[in-house]
Amino acid sequence: MAPRVSILMYHQVGDFPPMKAHRANYCDHRRFARQMGFLHALGFEVLDLDQALAGLFGEGPPPARSLALTFDDGYDNFAEYALPILTRYGFTATVYAISGWLGQPIQWYGQEPGRARPRLMDAGRLREIQAAGMTIGSHTVTHARLAEIGPEAKRRELTVSKATLEDLLGTEVRHLCYPFGSFDLDAVRAAGETGYVSATTCLRGPATAADHPLLLPRKAISFGDNLLGFAWKLGFKQAPKPDLVAWRQRLSQSPVL
Ligand SMILES: [Zn+2]
Repeated sequence: MAPRVSILMYHQVGDFPPMKAHRANYCDHRRFARQMGFLHALGFEVLDLDQALAGLFGEGPPPARSLALTFDDGYDNFAEYALPILTRYGFTATVYAISGWLGQPIQWYGQEPGRARPRLMDAGRLREIQAAGMTIGSHTVTHARLAEIGPEAKRRELTVSKATLEDLLGTEVRHLCYPFGSFDLDAVRAAGETGYVSATTCLRGPATAADHPLLLPRKAISFGDNLLGFAWKLGFKQAPKPDLVAWRQRLSQSPVL
């Protein structure tokens, strides 16, 4: 079997009343603790994205039971709820920060009535979680839909967020996540030109050696996933989704780098 790594996608982890919309944006912290405990009990190795890339595209196969954890947007509740649980098991994760909105409440989608707009981590918090072993990646400057903006705006979103975060963190920012899973071939090309070594999408499936490192699929863990659903998503048997297959083909026909 070709080398593969499941890259799990989370957004918020915390204590939430049940919601009808955007369920993949929430994970109950008790459920999250059980999920991480399950990975630990089964001997899963949690890789950072550089290790995952090396396993998929470089040094040779990642451990059979390995995965990577990603958290989009960089919510304050990552530090409050997810970090202590990750630390308990010695797990690492990548948090994708929106460089223009650090320390601010999230702005882009209408929350359900009565639900507060969650705040994003500020630079100090990002430095703290980095010091605790997490990797910070870019989620652009303004959480832009990259497929819907022009080439110059695209490049600005990618370069300014990288430079801003690098300045704040004092480390190289190598990993990107396309906001809303929105990208096109030019965005992928621009990501490579800007110096990102990986970029994650909302395309579904395990990441394999057949993927392009700037177009990595993930598996969203949703509010409704109990431990059984979580365990199912760790499995490698699901066939790649048609949109993922189509993008692989498009990339192979028009190489971006
Ligand atoms: Zn996002």
